[in-house]
Amino acid sequence: MLMHVEYRVTLPDHDWVVAARHKLIPSVYAGIQITREGLGKPEAVTYSGPTYIAIRSGKHASSSAFAHGLDFDRLQEFYSITRDAGQNVKPIVVFSVDGGPDENPRYQKVIDVAIHNFVKHNLDALFVATNAPGRSAFNRVERMMAPLSRELSGLILPHEHFGSHLDSQGRTTDEALEKANFKMAGETLAEVWSQVVIDQFPTIAEYIVPEKSEFDPESLIAKDTNWFQQHVRTSQYFTQIVKCHDMQCCSNARSSFFKVVPSRFLPPPIPVAQTTEGLKAPDKHEDSCSYKFPSMFVSQILKPDDILPIAKTVSRFSLMTSTAHLLNRVLLIGCARSATCTLHHKLC
Ligand SMILES: [Zn+2]
Repeated sequence: MLMHVEYRVTLPDHDWVVAARHKLIPSVYAGIQITREGLGKPEAVTYSGPTYIAIRSGKHASSSAFAHGLDFDRLQEFYSITRDAGQNVKPIVVFSVDGGPDENPRYQKVIDVAIHNFVKHNLDALFVATNAPGRSAFNRVERMMAPLSRELSGLILPHEHFGSHLDSQGRTTDEALEKANFKMAGETLAEVWSQVVIDQFPTIAEYIVPEKSEFDPESLIAKDTNWFQQHVRTSQYFTQIVKCHDMQCCSNARSSFFKVVPSRFLPPPIPVAQTTEGLKAPDKHEDSCSYKFPSMFVSQILKPDDILPIAKTVSRFSLMTSTAHLLNRVLLIGCARSATCTLHHKLC
């Protein structure tokens, strides 16, 4: 499981910057250890693991889905977290991200990169999840931020190590020199952070030069709409990419995922309570605090049609939960072409 968050470091570490876009953008990835024999135990998902930080120039590079795609290749060097005994990438990868436009699980470029990684590494399942607004503090990677931020206290990064690249108005006069200065500042920051040990796990930070900052879109493994319909489900906060059972299409499962989740896709999280009418989801948002989210195993058995309130139209609640995948525009566009679509029959 990998967590990801981004924040900005101004250069130098004052509340002003020396010139426009003179910032470093660190992308922070925290590997999360999951203990063995932890089936059904939430505490088996720990808060600890190694940290990887890709530092980019805020002026010469961008933080994009393709940049994160490149970072994923670097992350694989965390063998203890990412590799199985045969040194292959583990068959199930879960990304928990902070939901910016460059990593939001609903965004097509993010999904395209996820599909690429899914196919390239022969994964059984790949999940990209983000927290609802106001709940990003629950992203486990936030726990790594305090020790990293502490290292920035009092730190002034050199912005003209090789000489000034700015005129008196703060305008760039020498772009090559500017890039060299950014590199020096980024490598200095990487050196500082690489010495941080969090919960006895290492931190690896590196400066990514702008020329090699992004994944090459040309090399992206692309799939058609039909493949998308068979293997992908997206919702407001969660994208799932899962192997199918057609041996002509996907190879044998490498994990026990399909024994634990025989329906392939994880069910929508619907809170329930025992009511006079049986097990039901809350009718109104105000009632929801007295309801509880059942375990994934119970959720798999419950049928949304049985527990959701009968709605005159598709209610706000059901839009947000049970019909998540129905709302995927790409799927709707795709299946609108198909007269035999049953997947989205409620909306098609
Ligand atoms: Zn398949």
